[in-house]
Amino acid sequence: MKKKRVLVTGGSGFLGSHICEHLLGKGREVICVDNFYTGRKENIIHLLDNPYFEIIRHDITFPLYVEVDEIYNLACPASPIHYQHDPVQTTKTTVHGAINMLGLAKRVNAKIFQASTSEVYGNPAIHPQTEDYWGNVNPIGLRACYDEGKRCAETLFFDYNRQHSLAIKVGRIFNTYGPRMAMDDGRVVSNFIIQALRDEDITVYGKGNQTRSFCYVDDLVDGIVRFVDNTDDDFTGPVNLGNPDEFTILELAQSVIELIGSKSKIIFNPLPSDDPMRRKPDISLAKKTFDWEPQISLQTGLVKTVEYFDNYLKSL
Ligand code: NAD
Ligand code: UDP
Ligand code: UDP
Repeated sequence: MKKKRVLVTGGSGFLGSHICEHLLGKGREVICVDNFYTGRKENIIHLLDNPYFEIIRHDITFPLYVEVDEIYNLACPASPIHYQHDPVQTTKTTVHGAINMLGLAKRVNAKIFQASTSEVYGNPAIHPQTEDYWGNVNPIGLRACYDEGKRCAETLFFDYNRQHSLAIKVGRIFNTYGPRMAMDDGRVVSNFIIQALRDEDITVYGKGNQTRSFCYVDDLVDGIVRFVDNTDDDFTGPVNLGNPDEFTILELAQSVIELIGSKSKIIFNPLPSDDPMRRKPDISLAKKTFDWEPQISLQTGLVKTVEYFDNYLKSL
């Protein structure tokens, strides 16, 4: 039987590399497309011996012609410091990139998954967030290049679905962490773990009473692939994908210090603008539709992530 050929954009990034690995494990042929803006070859180096894996260095804001059966569109920096570094490029990636990948999907009649985000809810006025909530986003703030870009990408996905009958799967991913996050990524879990391993100050922004709900990467990848593989084409989403266990950022800092037995002290830095105060997914739709819910607690996931960064720092 011919192997299904899958394109993974952003395939050398944190989540993309885990998706590539998972799909190869399921017997797919995988084409990883990445411009290496935040992605790294070391995330996928272990896959290079596999004859069913190939990499194309390419920026998805430019057209791409390949023949594939499915597309996972993950290309886009996810960390606020990286997506705000070149905000115009972020909007181009989310919007022009989506148009190109949708045009490609249309030409080859491929099913296409979009890595959308909890950021489409902005600073949410309802809690926990359900998929029917339209969000509270500042259209001109520092986060808008990402939030509004991802919102426009969702619009494009649904218009290609309605106008061209394209099979789309839109997943709204909530904060996910785990091995292969980049050291300089700037997201909270990797920052705190690296600071604690080095006995440096832990930088809590604001008072640390803002909340997030953290999903371990293996759970998330399982959720995404179940959504794409195990639901009918008429189930487009959007569907929330995340772990509903909610923690304050201060609680996260304390857990990391305790787990590592670190001498680090917590310091308080200014809260970045438009930083959402609360975030927690309602995942009933994913549970009901493809029988998914995360299995890995924050404590267990942190142990695995600390082990990864500990080894990584020692290898430098
Ligand atoms: P990441 O920064 O590690 O990975 C993004 C990848 O996309 C990198 O390899 C980068 O080089 C590549 N890329 C960026 N712009 C590109 C372009 N124009 N052309 C080609 N490649 C490009 O981030 P991640 O955490 O792996 O996130 C992957 C996707 O999931 C992103 O779309 C992000 O918005 C989404 N997401 C992630 C989270 C999370 O918590 N990790 C939460 C919500 C949504
Ligand atoms: N596109 C691409 N690869 C393909 C097919 C299309 O990158 O295999 C790009 C193409 O450059 C176009 C975009 O996708 O700008 C949208 O394509 P669509 O066919 O929807 O629109 P049109 O070509 O009519 O603008
Ligand atoms: N944060 C923090 N210290 C850090 C990095 C982040 O207190 O060193 C906070 C940040 O202000 C936000 C939360 O942790 O409230 C999650 O930040 P992250 O950048 O990981 O993701 P976000 O959910 O904001 O996109």
